[in-house]
Amino acid sequence: MGVPGTNPPPPGLAETELFAVDAYRTEFDATITEVDHEGGRIALSRTAFYPVGGGQPSDTGTLQTAAGALAVTGVRRERGTIWHTLAPDAGELPAVGAEVQGEIDWDRRHRLMRTHTALHILCGVIWADYSIPVTGGNMEPMKGRLDFPFPEMSTELGSQVERRINEEIARAHEIVVDFLPRSLADADPALIRTSANLIPQEIDPLRVIDIVGLDRQADGGTHVLSTAEVGGVRVVGTESKGKDNKRIRIEVVDAQGDTA
Ligand SMILES: [Zn+2]
Repeated sequence: MGVPGTNPPPPGLAETELFAVDAYRTEFDATITEVDHEGGRIALSRTAFYPVGGGQPSDTGTLQTAAGALAVTGVRRERGTIWHTLAPDAGELPAVGAEVQGEIDWDRRHRLMRTHTALHILCGVIWADYSIPVTGGNMEPMKGRLDFPFPEMSTELGSQVERRINEEIARAHEIVVDFLPRSLADADPALIRTSANLIPQEIDPLRVIDIVGLDRQADGGTHVLSTAEVGGVRVVGTESKGKDNKRIRIEVVDAQGDTA
């Protein structure tokens, strides 16, 4: 279970989108609610599989049915429905109403959690030290990149940022998942800075990831419990993507000082 915030999740979320409230949940039981035969995918009454979004790739894993195990190769949310795409060799898909036991690939998920948290630490460090907001990014397990409107970028700046990220990892900041009422979120300076006000008003409450004392942002992703759990981070590239757009690439490693 993640560290709960002061505000509870909206009604129903904790029973249906298990990844949103407990990033450490790896197994679950569910009932099939929809089957898309053409697309080779199914929807479930509840799921621990994270659907691709917010720069975080989807989970993979397996669904055990009465007829055997089905491999889940990708997960995507479409108009509110979370679809689990099955491997092409899945054969005949199970029927609506059938029960399944799901299990996510935890090694992959935990690497993504460490990477996603590492990128938020990078955001927090750049804001704390340079007052520059992030403009974009992406990640895979154990590596990611973020873009910032820095006027200049250099390998020296990259080394300095790497040192600061690892300092914040060593401080073992607690990471809290909160569901902030929109009225409070829209008045929160950290959330205004990260443009949370651009999220449609009907999304209420806003899910907020708070790296306590370092970084707060509206976020749908899965994160570790403490910055210490990230391990270590190396800045492996700094690039200019044009005037006022500089890219910082990182790799997550198992301990500070390790090479990937
Ligand atoms: Zn994020």
